[in-house]
Amino acid sequence: MATRTRVAIIGAGPAGLLLAHLLHLEGIDSVLVERQSASYVQARIRAGILEASTVDLLKQAGVGTRLAAESMEHRGIYLQWPGERHHLDFVKLAGRSVSVYGQTEVTKDLMRAREEAGGQAFYEASEVELHDVGTDRPSVTFVDSDGRPQRLEAEVIAGCDGFHGPSRGAIPDAVRDTWEREYPFAWLGVLAEVAPSTDELIYAWHPDGFAMHSMRSPRVSRFYLQVRPDEDIAEWSDDRVWTALTTRLEAGEPGWRLETGRITEKSVLPMRSFVTTPMRHGRLFLAGDAAHIVPPTGAKGLNLAVADVALLARALTAWLSGGSTELAESYSDTALRRVWRCTHFSWWMTTMLHRHGDDFDAQLQLSQLRRTVTAEAAATELAENYAGLPIGYQ
Ligand SMILES: Cc1cc2nc3c(=O)[nH]c(=O)nc-3n(C[C@H](O)[C@H](O)[C@H](O)COP(=O)(O)OP(=O)(O)OC[C@H]3O[C@@H](n4cnc5c(N)ncnc54)[C@H](O)[C@@H]3O)c2cc1C
Repeated sequence: MATRTRVAIIGAGPAGLLLAHLLHLEGIDSVLVERQSASYVQARIRAGILEASTVDLLKQAGVGTRLAAESMEHRGIYLQWPGERHHLDFVKLAGRSVSVYGQTEVTKDLMRAREEAGGQAFYEASEVELHDVGTDRPSVTFVDSDGRPQRLEAEVIAGCDGFHGPSRGAIPDAVRDTWEREYPFAWLGVLAEVAPSTDELIYAWHPDGFAMHSMRSPRVSRFYLQVRPDEDIAEWSDDRVWTALTTRLEAGEPGWRLETGRITEKSVLPMRSFVTTPMRHGRLFLAGDAAHIVPPTGAKGLNLAVADVALLARALTAWLSGGSTELAESYSDTALRRVWRCTHFSWWMTTMLHRHGDDFDAQLQLSQLRRTVTAEAAATELAENYAGLPIGYQ
């Protein structure tokens, strides 16, 4: 069966869903093709920190009502190491705050907007393949959830299918470059039914390894522990998780106590930096994790996907509605400037906070942490990058 649309969007994660919504607001028709079921995508526990410009964009696009009511605004973060905990106030340093609102909730809000708009989406699609992206008549073929072969013909394909999707591979090897760094550690992420023991996130350097106290709501906390990349999660009982978190997090401030609760989710997240270029080839445009991955230490992954999409929606609108290809031509170069800035910041935070290398490296990390909390210039650099660059940053 053949369907015709203006933009075929592969992947209904935050990037794909937001692009579909922004194009709809401009009167541009699109169809979403997603490998998983809608309920699976909604339940995927991932990012939780939104930059100020992400929040502004979601509100301006009419999908920020629940976000405004339910998110928790944070002025900054705590940085700590044994014996010391310091607060960095982003509002004072950079004039911007961040908001705690789970990726699960962003996804639900965007899916509801898509349903209300009556936009077409194929969930549980298999054998998704891109064709003829270098020509004027690109298409996507797949098998739908009822087992029927489908063909989607479009003017443009948006590859929003994450790190493992097929879009990136549709750009010929001869024109594609990749840069990659694997880190010698991973995160054990834990979701727990317990009120946060802190008002804002704690990033903790510790001789046993990094730990982080994050949160998703006033009743749900999120924690991370630095572990080995090949860590066997079966070896981490709930008791072992709480003991390690307590040791690493309580070390920063004598007398401060970590509250514990029922653990509802546990997973090991690999840590990787990855960038592929170009982000556009012919009529295929990549956005979000399809083009780049950052380690989660800087809370950038979801925000970077949103920034790509803001740029791409503007470029496609100018092209498909106005006939101007200028923004589409410059999309890859413009998006990559922000991607590399966020890639550097995520690498820097990761390198400063994770125990790796030898004791000499550890002393360098502690020196960098002290500098960051005592010198306003250093603190401002962290604050500006963490709270997020403007959407149009170049
Ligand atoms: C386990 C995990 C934890 C994370 N935690 C954090 C965090 O704490 N903080 C942070 O800032 N970032 C985090 N991230 C990163 C953040 O979640 C991503 O940057 C963000 O989801 C990017 O959005 P996206 O839409 O580009 O990609 P995705 O959310 O990956 O969406 C891509 C979509 O494409 C679909 N897809 C894949 N293959 C196909 C196919 N063949 N056909 C059709 N559809 C396909 C996928 O099912 C998915 O729905 C985490 C990522 C992961 C994987």
